[in-house]
Amino acid sequence: SAVAAGRDTAVFDLIAQERQRQTHGLELIASENYVSDQVMEAQGSVLTNKYAEGLPGKRYYGGCEVVDQVEQLAIDRVKELFGVQWANVQPHSGAQANAAVMLACLSPGDKILGFDLSHGGHLTHGSAVNFSGKLYQPSFYGVEKETGLIDWDKVVDTARRERPKMIICGASAYSRDWNYAALRRAADEVGALLLADISHPSGLIAKGLLNSPFEHCHIVTTTTHKTLRGPRGGLIMLGQDFDNPFGLKTPKGEIRPMSALLDSGVFPGTQGGPLEHVIAAKAVAFGEALGEGYTRYVHQVQKNAQALAKEFLNRGYDIISGGTDNHLMLIDLRSKGLTGKLAENTLVQADITINKNMVPFDDKSPFVTSGIRIGSAAVTTRGLVEADMTRIVELIDEALTHHADASRISSVRQQVNEWLQAYPLYQA
Ligand code: PLP
Repeated sequence: SAVAAGRDTAVFDLIAQERQRQTHGLELIASENYVSDQVMEAQGSVLTNKYAEGLPGKRYYGGCEVVDQVEQLAIDRVKELFGVQWANVQPHSGAQANAAVMLACLSPGDKILGFDLSHGGHLTHGSAVNFSGKLYQPSFYGVEKETGLIDWDKVVDTARRERPKMIICGASAYSRDWNYAALRRAADEVGALLLADISHPSGLIAKGLLNSPFEHCHIVTTTTHKTLRGPRGGLIMLGQDFDNPFGLKTPKGEIRPMSALLDSGVFPGTQGGPLEHVIAAKAVAFGEALGEGYTRYVHQVQKNAQALAKEFLNRGYDIISGGTDNHLMLIDLRSKGLTGKLAENTLVQADITINKNMVPFDDKSPFVTSGIRIGSAAVTTRGLVEADMTRIVELIDEALTHHADASRISSVRQQVNEWLQAYPLYQA
């Protein structure tokens, strides 16, 4: 071809190695999943060559007739999937989606109220090391020490005290459902916009397995690569395209409907050209999610998470809040005398990937942590069911209990590798 060169073995050998790692190991990182062959094919397509600043039908570049249809398909499918009136499928990631929303709706120095990072929140909800904590004035709500649960009355009290311009709900490591109605009452009382970031449970929400944020939250953002099982990316949605009750203005000083404001927050606000190859992959994933197979999948994700939690509890592990409603759980390892770092490093040697995670009221640093986060989205895609979850916990427990014994860890690794041979991932 016109761009042919010798095979870049330096890169492709590494990709082959990573494929092996993903194939042989148990993937329990709550934010990860395996996309389908078709999602991968769309993402690795010629669409990566195309510039398409703007929106379908309103571009700043010629030759967009085809990508216009691709992007419109992604928009139409995601609107059907979540039952929403409006969506922008261009954000390059979840962080970008949140940045676009905040740029569109807030001014520097405005107050925001988010879920504490150290209790399970996300960096983009006001953390000091993130743009959201640098540009805006953050305050936080968290979980109760005794229960590990959010006390909704206390969040309302915090909102009354802080009077933020935006309340953000959603998390990276909260295993329980959200009371969006209570948060909306608080938002209305103090004149705040309510943003739900459903990055983690969006797939379960799409299929009605968890409370819906759309009737209560002004704006909803999500990543597309977690339970939603699409390519890495972000998405902004509006349950209904309401008409800007706070009189927020576009950069040109116009008061426009919320959809127009958010579109401008993405482009030109925080991004240039959209990644149409990724948008094509999003369209494929949304198409898959509209099908029955995906409905069965998310039900199994939830059942598998419950089976994991049950077996961890049987084996004396301390799960924050005592269980899970969604696809993930946070385990406090202090009662087992272990740190998150030690657990992560031990399990990786057994080809089991999880991530260390701060637990609420953690006394250790984010590099060490007292906990681990575990999710069922990827192993469910792999085809594993409840009985397999019991075995997973057994293997994890064996490795953690004998973390200093290299031969036992290596025996766990062999069991994992042999087991997963029966669950092929991608064709070679
Ligand atoms: N929001 C939440 C709640 C998340 O959990 C994540 C990802 O971990 C993000 C946003 C950021 O997504 P990304 O990594 O695609 O920027």
